[in-house]
Amino acid sequence: MSLEKWTGFYFRMPIKFKLTLWSTVLIMVLFAGYNTLQYVIMEKWIIHREKKNVQHSMNEILNYFLEQEAEFKPENLTKIRQYLDKINRDDQRIRIIGTDNIPLITINDNVPDNLLVHQSISHQVIGIYKQGGYSHLIMESPITIFEFTGSVEIVKSLAQFEEMRKTISQVMFYFTLGAVVLSILVGWLLTRNVLKPLQAMAQTIRDISSKGMQERMRPALNGDEISTLMIMFNDMMDQVEESFRQQSRFVEDASHELRTPVAIIEGHMSLLRRWGKEDPVILSDSLDASLHEFARLKGLVLELLALSRAEQNTHVLESLLKNPSKVIQRIINRFALIHPDFALETDLKQIEDMSLIISNEHLEQILLIILDNAIKYSLQHKVISVKANVREKQIDIEIIDYGMGIPAKDLPYVTDRFYRVDKARSRDQGGNGLGLAIAKRLIDRYQGTLAIRSEEMTGTTVTISLPCLFHE
Ligand code: ADP
Repeated sequence: MSLEKWTGFYFRMPIKFKLTLWSTVLIMVLFAGYNTLQYVIMEKWIIHREKKNVQHSMNEILNYFLEQEAEFKPENLTKIRQYLDKINRDDQRIRIIGTDNIPLITINDNVPDNLLVHQSISHQVIGIYKQGGYSHLIMESPITIFEFTGSVEIVKSLAQFEEMRKTISQVMFYFTLGAVVLSILVGWLLTRNVLKPLQAMAQTIRDISSKGMQERMRPALNGDEISTLMIMFNDMMDQVEESFRQQSRFVEDASHELRTPVAIIEGHMSLLRRWGKEDPVILSDSLDASLHEFARLKGLVLELLALSRAEQNTHVLESLLKNPSKVIQRIINRFALIHPDFALETDLKQIEDMSLIISNEHLEQILLIILDNAIKYSLQHKVISVKANVREKQIDIEIIDYGMGIPAKDLPYVTDRFYRVDKARSRDQGGNGLGLAIAKRLIDRYQGTLAIRSEEMTGTTVTISLPCLFHE
């Protein structure tokens, strides 16, 4: 397999295989590294000790010859041999070699006889020599006493050490192998346990796409990272599910609202086709009614658009509006022009030096909706008051009317989309039940609040609270 195929294969590997592979490789490298280090240190130490022993034996022999002023005559050889026999160690051979390279004395314990390593030398040498698969430590030293010139040779067989080395390396090998097998097993079990919750998560996600959004993760109660992730995922799914539900309810409501004017226009059109062309009264009435419905349809579409814009983003907006009292006053003046039968009172002194955290257009849009309602639902007492108060870090704008009010049972729902207290009454006034929904969503985006107090046949007070800044 080429390198590219290997890397591709590796990347496609499941995480549990990768984790097991890496933990095994790591344990193997650590074990092998540690064993090799131990092995090298042990080998060095043993060789060093053997060298020291051989050196010691050599020094002893040379000292003995010098002290005894040994002469290597046949009658002395027995005594020398006896001495060498005594100091010789296990697996060691001592030879005294004459000028003609012929050994005069050989004391041998367990060293192969055919091991002939002597060369004429002029100075002391020590080294390791390999023969027949075994190593030997060899030391040779020149010696000159009277007319005798030769050398002393010590050969220490390292066979035993090599046996031991072989056994140790075998033990180390099997231990490493055992550790690898064990690490594969433990690594496999561990990764399987660690990855189990992840697999459960993957399964839940698969279930969500096949069975539906109601599926949820089942987090463990231990509060670890994965269960935290599962809880977060569940929360997110709750939100997604809720927004899906809202979305489809919105589409249902919107299409329901659109159906009525479309059906009315359709009715008029078929009436016109059948009789209207000849009858100028029917023609004029149907055209008027259709135009009226078209206007309502247009209004509804614009409101739907405004609502969808208000709902689009949920992040908090941060525009700054200086002197909001001017904006409020301007809108009130506009209303006073259109509705001369109404008395519009204002008290905006408190907020003259303030800055509201809202955009000019959005404040206008909100006030238009609320003032429009106040006018729409007023009865004989045609007075509307707008007051602004400062409260801690926010401004309250109150719009008070003395109209028909909202029944207590409906009050909690008036900011819901398409909610109308009395469908017929509201439609007569041209309302689609979207105004307060739009206003509430816009206020929410500036972290403000919309509160409504109302009493039937007495009046309604709508309070807009928005965050503000004081002027320096
Ligand atoms: P609409 O466009 O139909 O007025 P809104 O969302 O603005 O829809 O208001 C929802 C409902 O709350 C209305 O149908 C109306 O009955 C009631 N409402 C809102 N404001 C007032 C008010 N100032 N006085 C009485 N009823 C109100």
